[in-house]
Amino acid sequence: MKKHFISAMLSALLFLTGCSAESSPEPVQGTFFAMDTVMDFTIYGESGLIDQSESLIASLESLVSVTDTGSELYAINQTGSGTLTGKASSLMEQALEICRRTDGALDSSIYPIVRAWGFTTGSYQVPDEAEIQALLPLVDYRKIQYDAAAGDVTLPEGMKIDLGSVAKGYAGQLVAQMLREHGVQSALLSLGGNVQTVGAKPDGSPWQIGIKDPQGEDAMMALSVEDQAVVTSGGYERYFEQDGQTYWHIMDPSTGHPADSGLISLTIVGDEGVVCDGLSTALFVMGLEKAADLWAQSGDFEAVFVTASGEVYITEGLRDRFALTEQYADTPVSVIER
Ligand code: ADP
Ligand code: MG
Repeated sequence: MKKHFISAMLSALLFLTGCSAESSPEPVQGTFFAMDTVMDFTIYGESGLIDQSESLIASLESLVSVTDTGSELYAINQTGSGTLTGKASSLMEQALEICRRTDGALDSSIYPIVRAWGFTTGSYQVPDEAEIQALLPLVDYRKIQYDAAAGDVTLPEGMKIDLGSVAKGYAGQLVAQMLREHGVQSALLSLGGNVQTVGAKPDGSPWQIGIKDPQGEDAMMALSVEDQAVVTSGGYERYFEQDGQTYWHIMDPSTGHPADSGLISLTIVGDEGVVCDGLSTALFVMGLEKAADLWAQSGDFEAVFVTASGEVYITEGLRDRFALTEQYADTPVSVIER
């Protein structure tokens, strides 16, 4: 395999749930539905911050939703051109950067393919291969003309943009930033499969973020995290089955079919939620070897990989930051080194 793969078997550590100090302030908690998922926020701060977080997310969603007929992105997808403003413009710029960085494993113009498989509506179907081949020429982020300074977008005929693979990560990042500006030193934000932390727990110890066993129900490990985002992309999140085959919502832009890279779950940990979200989708498409190469050339993220055969790999920056849960204590974990 790759030269930087060292099959170090790590002794299993028990996962200890941290107990919070008795003097900790009471958190405010809020659960709401946004961006097509359930969000659950715990904030050590004033109660009004939940509402403020919710409206910040709603304001981003109203700009970049692909289904809301009033959004800026909807208008662009309808007419082939238009202008993105503020947060939407910034998200588009960052999304295209990740498309380039991953050489198109993330492709923000994948929408026609995602729609053909029914993932936009929930009316799932396996499209004809001829239909996929007809749609594939519409998928190429390099053909999106984007003037980042002005926010102006021009698309080739038929192309449509979907920022769904990065929007939740960006939303978490924006909320964290807003909370820090309000003096919050401790918060745990869950946005569907995305987690964003602010600071550490009130007792000063790191947040313990559980990574789910993609083939089971329980957490297989916990990661120690402060002030970072943890984003998981998995084949088990949104999928359908037909004729004994499983088809999931992460697409390989080069084939127009669900990504088939040998990974079933991939978690990215890093400072920027938007980067973590984009890379979680992209590296799931790339597969273990290419993803490890990209990681080795980068300095802004760490990763946990679970393969279809149940093998678990972590990048070396997580070596001292993970603990297997009791139930998974015997799971061998290989460390990927630079
Ligand atoms: P989730 O939204 O379930 O947390 P992701 O962040 O991995 O998962 O984003 C998946 C969504 O992104 C899909 O529902 C689809 O709309 C879109 N998508 C799927 N494959 C790609 C891809 N290769 N590049 C860009 N967007 C994608
Ligand atoms: Mg993603």
